[in-house]
Amino acid sequence: MTNEETLKNILDKAVKNGLGLKSHRIAWEEASAYHKERWVSNLIQSKEYVSIIFSHEFAKAYWGDGYICLTCGQEGECDNCYSSPNYRSSGIAHLMQLALSTDRIKYLEKFL
Ligand SMILES: [Zn+2]
Repeated sequence: MTNEETLKNILDKAVKNGLGLKSHRIAWEEASAYHKERWVSNLIQSKEYVSIIFSHEFAKAYWGDGYICLTCGQEGECDNCYSSPNYRSSGIAHLMQLALSTDRIKYLEKFL
């Protein structure tokens, strides 16, 4: 898959889960396939997708509003780290990983 196709699928998933996305008054879910294609290629060329994927609204829509154990990486209630589970909202934990990854679209692709 090209970066464009992957980002389109990523945005499809986030919008389906509640992310509001608009361009020139057209909502993502109402845009035609052709329009989405141009929209995504614009977002990539202008690097504007970066501000979308680093927003809390995106993180919540893409990864849900559950939590994750930072010590072992388990989603939800941790039963590995009896003494010191270290919880963080999954969206924030993933945004931190996303900030560290060299290929952000590839990182997001793992959760499609
Ligand atoms: Zn744990």
